[in-house]
Amino acid sequence: MPVRHEYFVTRAVPGWHAGLPVLRVPDLRLYVRAEGPGILCGGWEPDGLSLDPRQVAIGQPLAVPPDWDVLSGFADDFARLAPPVTQAEVREVFRGFPAFSPDGRFIVGPVPGLRGFVMAAACNAHGVSGSAGLAQHVLESLQPDPSGYVQSLSPARYVPRTWDWESARAQAEAIYENYYGLPQPHS
Ligand SMILES: Cc1cc2nc3c(=O)[nH]c(=O)nc-3n(C[C@H](O)[C@H](O)[C@H](O)COP(=O)(O)OP(=O)(O)OC[C@H]3O[C@@H](n4cnc5c(N)ncnc54)[C@H](O)[C@@H]3O)c2cc1C
Repeated sequence: MPVRHEYFVTRAVPGWHAGLPVLRVPDLRLYVRAEGPGILCGGWEPDGLSLDPRQVAIGQPLAVPPDWDVLSGFADDFARLAPPVTQAEVREVFRGFPAFSPDGRFIVGPVPGLRGFVMAAACNAHGVSGSAGLAQHVLESLQPDPSGYVQSLSPARYVPRTWDWESARAQAEAIYENYYGLPQPHS
């Protein structure tokens, strides 16, 4: 399910440089780092915005306008720790609709019933950092005896379809909204 994600990059802010660490502020749902001499600030909206994939035109670029209410909310939140962020001019906004799965896990492996069709999808907004591992999982999924973990990522968990679009969408949004949330203890 596509769930929107955005971050902004500011022009130079005194004191910011590439040697600074990446910050994650789970209580504010924010991540921040220096981008050159500017500030890169992104976050996880408490009320995520998803799309119904059936309504998205295949092969067409998806226009994603910056949502300034959301972005300035990230800046206001981060200003509690670094006040200059709200005065800095925004240089660029990155945004898109990364794909989330209803259970927050990758979907990797051959699709049952579609011979030769192999998935590596539902990256849950960590497809860049997870790419090397994903590639290994794809290869392993094609071997005769994949590990239990790789088997657990199989598209087979969604085939045959026992799910409905609206619930899957709501669950994927919840995965996005709770990206920095602590796992709930099992009852
Ligand atoms: C603002 C933002 C910040 C992010 N930050 C991070 C981050 O810091 N770290 C991280 O790990 N991940 C991050 N992500 C998530 C990461 O970008 C995704 O998880 C990753 O790109 C997913 O890879 P993918 O190959 O599954 O899909 P995509 O990267 O979406 O690739 C799908 C490709 O398929 C093409 N395509 C679509 N339809 C067709 C068609 N019909 N025929 C042919 N080609 C088609 C598209 O043009 C696209 O190139 C971020 C995402 C966003 C939006």
